[in-house]
Amino acid sequence: MKKDSIVHSPDEIDGIRKAAALAAEIREKLRGLAAPGMSSKDFDLMAGAMIASAGARSAFLGYRGFPGQICISMNDEVVHGIGSRERFFSLGDLVSIDVGINLGGFIGDTATSFVIGGDTDQETARLLRITREALDAGISSAKSGMRVSDISMTIEKIARSARFGIVREYVGHGCGVELHEPPEIPNYVLGKKTVMLKPGMTLAIEPMFNLGTHAVSTDPDGWTVRTRDGKRSAHFEHMILVTENEPEVLTWPKMY
Ligand code: MG
Repeated sequence: MKKDSIVHSPDEIDGIRKAAALAAEIREKLRGLAAPGMSSKDFDLMAGAMIASAGARSAFLGYRGFPGQICISMNDEVVHGIGSRERFFSLGDLVSIDVGINLGGFIGDTATSFVIGGDTDQETARLLRITREALDAGISSAKSGMRVSDISMTIEKIARSARFGIVREYVGHGCGVELHEPPEIPNYVLGKKTVMLKPGMTLAIEPMFNLGTHAVSTDPDGWTVRTRDGKRSAHFEHMILVTENEPEVLTWPKMY
């Protein structure tokens, strides 16, 4: 039978902790370097150089054929955007970067969203703030003895009260030795019994909220996911370790 969750050994957790910390460091460096006029391809190559110089490799490059070092999703793009020589960052663009690395056989996976230059409209600012809040709240629910659906419910409630669309096709996941491990962690409640959380599970929690409806489509490139209504989308992701007590966030430093 296929496993429904994975409890990692202390040795594995050591490795996962290092990979996650490195992914977070790279995420923060990249966020600081994203500037108007830069092509998203150059940004992707910069990320690749950073990952290589740290002795790691991209966990995304080549994954089911993904062509980028990281995912760069702009404005109405939700996730899985690919750096391009024809696309340049401009002031006010909403950019989501998702960094996945493999360090010595262990995976770090983390994402953040931000605005180039920092200044934006009220709605985008609200989308960013509430998606981050939902991630924090979801993490607080990731305690031993709780279920995956407790995380989902916490995140869903926040999106609903803010009247944001919750992306349904893409979800959080176990993550540690493989990029995608069981269980899946939807940002909404599915109404079926889900896995109970146990110490030693390492999870990527990643709310994706849209200013408009939940509906998304995939571009002809086979990767880029964007909102059908063309409205903006935000995405934040942390990896956490379930412990006997409070969850340990593995992808510090805090991104906000
Ligand atoms: Mg992920």
